[in-house]
Amino acid sequence: MATFNISKDDEFLDRSEGQAAKFYIPQPLSRIHDLLQREKKPLTSTMLPPVARARFERLITMFDLGDPDTLRLEMSKCCAIISGSAALYVFHPNAFTPGDVDFYVPHSTANRFICSLHDRGFFDNSADDKKATYPSREIVAVSRFWKRGNARSINLIITQSVNPLAVVVQFHSTLLMNAITGRGVICLYPLLTLPGRSVMMVDTPKARKCFAKYGRRGFRFQSIFASHECLSSAYCRNARRSLEDGDVLSVTFQYQPQSMNAAIHGLTPFHWQLGPMRS
Ligand SMILES: [Zn+2]
Repeated sequence: MATFNISKDDEFLDRSEGQAAKFYIPQPLSRIHDLLQREKKPLTSTMLPPVARARFERLITMFDLGDPDTLRLEMSKCCAIISGSAALYVFHPNAFTPGDVDFYVPHSTANRFICSLHDRGFFDNSADDKKATYPSREIVAVSRFWKRGNARSINLIITQSVNPLAVVVQFHSTLLMNAITGRGVICLYPLLTLPGRSVMMVDTPKARKCFAKYGRRGFRFQSIFASHECLSSAYCRNARRSLEDGDVLSVTFQYQPQSMNAAIHGLTPFHWQLGPMRS
């Protein structure tokens, strides 16, 4: 029988106290903290870009996707993002190795992005229809791409919306609400995701199998957010969030002036509300 933890408010409250740990020092990013300590620099986000970039490049090498810089450029031009387990991997590189990479691209630019995958030696197999595993009204089509000599495949998910994040905020839990864009990485619920915790959005037998899989990788799931003020907390099912709000963690791949948030460039404005648990 599958086992996984769903904890109630109290446990989460214990872990979420201590605002000092906010965003930059939690366990999964401890390497960045080590770097900062060694160089005796103030704790700012300026050490993050090279780390985010190195992790992205490791992922691209793992899947034999070719030159990472031109891939990032194509992603930006096509408004394509990487989400799912591969985007989570960037925040938790030691927890697991992703089995596939999911690219999300709007239908308007999908053909162009498919061409760039072909240029990188990837070919799709039309017999591989995986749409059923991505249940969302937002999804137009799903295809799997293979490359000769590479056991790992990539998935291309074509979205109805011009903003592929519309699919990301419908995922089964906050754990997967992360994205790699052409310019950086984004985490929509960093106070949960960075310490390896998550709130469930869907409670079905199939979703529970997924939670169990991530549970074996050390992630923990809960059914509710910690006690909060509904009108002021971003960690609430009723909160109307914005990609530009201060609760989204975004890290660019290159050093940028603090005022410029390039990681979300091309994806704003974007708003979402989680809503009640789906079953
Ligand atoms: Zn609330």
